[in-house]
Amino acid sequence: MSLKDRTIIITGASSGIGEATAKKLASDGANVVLMARREDKLNTIKDAIEKDGGKALVASGDVTKKKDFENVVSKTVEAFGKVDGLINNAGLMPLSYVQKLKTDEWDKMVDVNIKGVLNGVAAVLPKMIDNKGGDIINISSMAANRYFPGGAVYCATKSAVKMFSEGLRQELAPKYGINVTSIEPGAVATELTDTITDEDIKENMKDMKSMTTLEAEDIANAIHYALSQPARVNINDVYIVPSEQQ
Ligand code: NDP
Repeated sequence: MSLKDRTIIITGASSGIGEATAKKLASDGANVVLMARREDKLNTIKDAIEKDGGKALVASGDVTKKKDFENVVSKTVEAFGKVDGLINNAGLMPLSYVQKLKTDEWDKMVDVNIKGVLNGVAAVLPKMIDNKGGDIINISSMAANRYFPGGAVYCATKSAVKMFSEGLRQELAPKYGINVTSIEPGAVATELTDTITDEDIKENMKDMKSMTTLEAEDIANAIHYALSQPARVNINDVYIVPSEQQ
C-alpha cells in the first residue's frame, strides 16, 4: 500500500535512521513531521524533502518533555488534520561498563530511550483511538535480544522498548486497529556511537570498524515495509542485522 497522504511523526529525525526514514516515507507520499532538538538540521532535511516534491513539517522538541510532544501533535493536526503514525526513533547509546558508575548517562538512556517512547505513545494515542487506527513503530535494537559489552543499561532500555511494543500491540491492535512494530537493528552507520565517553569501550569498538555495517536507508526500508502493509497485517518484529555481524 502506498503511504500517500498518511501523516507520520518521526522522532530523532535530525540524523541517521530518522533522517533516512523521513526521506523514504516522504518519497512515497507521506506527510512527515520531523521532531528532534537540532532545529537547523531538521530545516535542512525539510528543504531536501520539499525539493524532491515531498511534504514535511518541522516540529522541534525534546522527547523527554511531555509538553513538547503535545505541541508536536497539535502542530501536526493543524498542518495535516490528523496523525496516522508515530515512529519512536530518538535514542542514545553511551555504552559503559557498569563498574564505572556513569549514572548520569544511565539516567539519560532511561529518559530518552524508554520514557521518550512512552511520552510519544501517550501524546498520539487519543488521536489514533478517535481515528480507529494508526501505526506505532518503535526502534528497539539487536540489543533487546542479546547483551553486548558495556551495554547492560542500553540493552535493558531496548528490551523495555521491545516488550512495551508487544504489550501495546496486544492491547491496541485487536481493539482499535492500531498496529505496532518493534524494529531491532544490528550495527548501523550513524552518529549513535558519538555519545560514548568510556575510553575502554571506544578502544574495544575499534575492532568493529572493519565490519560492513547496515546503512540508515536499510532500516528506513524495513520501516516502510511495516507501514505499507494492509491494515489487517501487523508486522510484530523486524530483526535486521549486517551479514558480517556475529
Ligand atoms: P543518531 O545519533 O544518528 O540519531 C539519534 C537521534 O535521536 C538524533 O536525531 C537526535 O536528535 C535524537 N535525539 C536524541 N535525544 C533526543 C531527545 N531528547 N529528544 C529528541 N530527539 C533526540 O543515531 P541512530 O540513527 O543510529 O539512532 C536512531 C535509533 O536507532 C536509536 O533509538 C538507536 O538506539 C537505534 N538503533 C541504532 C543502531 C545503530 O547501530 N546505529 C542499532 C540499533 C538501534 P537531536 O540531537 O537533534 O535531538
